Amino acid sequence: MEPSLPVVRALAIAGERVAGGVGTHETVLPSPERVDLGGRCVLPGFSDAHVHFPTWSLAQRQVRLEGTATIEEAVARVADAAADVEPGRWLRGTGWRSGDWSPSVEPTKEALDAVTGETPTALMARDYHSLWLNSAALARANGDLQVPGGVVEVDAQGAPTGVLREECAWHFRDTYVRPTDDEMVEASRDGVRLAVSRGVTSVHDKDGWLGALRVWQRLEAEGALTLRVWQSLPHYQVEEVAAVGIRSGFGTPLVRVGYLKAFMDGTLGSQTARLLDGSGVEITSREELERIVRRGAEVGLPVAVHAIGDRANRDALDAFEASREAWRPLGLRPRIEHAQLLAPEDVPRFAALGVAASVQFSHAPSDRDIAERFWGEKTANAYAYRSLLDAGTVVANGSDAPIEELDPLAGICAGVRRTLDDRPPWHPEQRVSVEEALAATITAPAWLARDEHHRGKLVPGYLADLVVLDRDPLAIPADELPDVRVVATMLGGRWVHNPPPWD
Ligand SMILES: [Zn+2]
Repeated sequence: MEPSLPVVRALAIAGERVAGGVGTHETVLPSPERVDLGGRCVLPGFSDAHVHFPTWSLAQRQVRLEGTATIEEAVARVADAAADVEPGRWLRGTGWRSGDWSPSVEPTKEALDAVTGETPTALMARDYHSLWLNSAALARANGDLQVPGGVVEVDAQGAPTGVLREECAWHFRDTYVRPTDDEMVEASRDGVRLAVSRGVTSVHDKDGWLGALRVWQRLEAEGALTLRVWQSLPHYQVEEVAAVGIRSGFGTPLVRVGYLKAFMDGTLGSQTARLLDGSGVEITSREELERIVRRGAEVGLPVAVHAIGDRANRDALDAFEASREAWRPLGLRPRIEHAQLLAPEDVPRFAALGVAASVQFSHAPSDRDIAERFWGEKTANAYAYRSLLDAGTVVANGSDAPIEELDPLAGICAGVRRTLDDRPPWHPEQRVSVEEALAATITAPAWLARDEHHRGKLVPGYLADLVVLDRDPLAIPADELPDVRVVATMLGGRWVHNPPPWD
């Protein structure tokens, strides 16, 4: 990933760092251990620039409703899972998207009640912006469901249907369905192993609001943390963070506090993305975000803000622009998460302002059908990764796991191919090259974490965080990309997945 020396035949590692390309440095090592790669390919380790790690880890153990074609199929999966729930425990699930169902229906509590009975049941939508509850779950709130910035869906009689959206969904989840720290630690221990097996050596986590920092610290203390974490904290905790004097970068070599997280709007799937046509849900106003960014700068923390719709993105860019004299001189690296639908005139503003686009290549092909349904011809300006790169934007790639699978190679494929099945690429004019997809998955996230002089390249002095692939993704045709496999992963000079020798 170093443009001046893009490829070396071999690599020398000393301790936790790269010593150099073999041929010049290996003789300085007194007792080198040699690993013959057998023609395999080594790249710097992958980053996932947007992941809800404990939530993704927990989702591995919940009812999964992805890929259900009808509401009946979703309910049948819930019925199977309900049989295993211990009395008094919650039945949790995730992954439904009513837009995928045919006929298209909105879920209801009645549909769940029939199979869950008295077991309180909470099913997060695939985009995590809607929550589907049964009557036993709704009863926990005693009718107290409405909060600002949220929607309680009601039927013709005015009774809750069982679906909550945005702040109402999150408030309910956080109040009644919140996982315990022990549950998160247990799930994330397995999650780390799974992520590392996919070549991940660093994540930008978004579950700070859920207490992810406590989870990482416990995993690190027990030696189970084998990737690096750049952690978000919710913007509403800024005063607590300021009070103890924590600035961006505080932490250990493995776990650091990175940035504040805020939300401008909802999502495509929940039809709550805030558009220039006036539709959608505003979670944070332009003025409020400007205040958050200014306060973050005073405290020493950049802001990552979720923005899906073109109005939400414009408001976010306006807020970063209005506050730039506060954050730019400090070298803070703000970012817009998703940047899914952009008015063409807003595309160049990212690079001009120095705001990174933290996108998810996988979202484009996996959202194509509902994007066309809800956004129609606006999709010409959606998931505009090529346009953002051409404008000079720092584009970082993530999975938004559990919304997509935490799998960087799948993200790289999606960015390059813009299709997940045998359909032709969706808006092929927005495809990125393999080199660009790798940069978005390796060097750009390292830059966002202020690690551009420590990670993201395999050059002398950099951390030996690397992944061994079974073949070189730059040397194969694009249609062979889905076949690339992770062979092994190294963090700081230590094998953390599948040490050699390999067959
Ligand atoms: Zn997210």
